[in-house]
Amino acid sequence: MVYERCFICNKKSYQTTHYESDVDFRTFPRGSDVDLDGRIHRRGRESGDFLNPFSSVHECPYCGYVSNNLSDKTILSTNFFDSESYRNCNNIIFKSDLAKKCYKSYLIYKESNKLIQSFFYIQYCAWACDDENDDENGIIVRKIGITIINEFLSLKGFNFKTHDEWLLIKFDWMRRMGDFENLINEYENISLEKIAHSEVFRFQLEKAKNRDSSCYSISDVYK
Ligand SMILES: [Zn+2]
Repeated sequence: MVYERCFICNKKSYQTTHYESDVDFRTFPRGSDVDLDGRIHRRGRESGDFLNPFSSVHECPYCGYVSNNLSDKTILSTNFFDSESYRNCNNIIFKSDLAKKCYKSYLIYKESNKLIQSFFYIQYCAWACDDENDDENGIIVRKIGITIINEFLSLKGFNFKTHDEWLLIKFDWMRRMGDFENLINEYENISLEKIAHSEVFRFQLEKAKNRDSSCYSISDVYK
């Protein structure tokens, strides 16, 4: 538990940190326990290895501000945090409190024009939905995530992840959403630069052809 003072309303509250992390596609070896969209696989999460508090989402109980640390500055004003769309997450009824907080964080970053952070939090939101079997909302937020990935794909020289790494996340999410036909029709014939990426993609295609939307890890690709 940490005690933080809120940047927006200046009140103090106790906060607990949730740990979550994704993994850089360049660092995980073949056969590693990482899900196909880069999330640490369940076993690693349960052991606590690899996780960092980067994604912690603290929410001020007084004004509703959500941040990694409530004392973090934001350019947004109280009007934003008071708005209906922020407070009710654009009318999405999430099953988990964590998903709700991640979605609010996504809204904050989106409004602040911080595209990459907005993606991370919609990603964490999708994972929080998965953990609660909130499939319907998992699809809604992955759709949002894919529109952000499409923006990244249209940006030349964007180097946080490579073009193909963003594509791999997009493929995984299309399949997880059950968007099999579009995945197959749009991408079946593309070629990815690295062999390891192509192997993951071929695995994805095969699963899509079998109408399989389950969560798989990199180790499953090489079984
Ligand atoms: Zn506050």
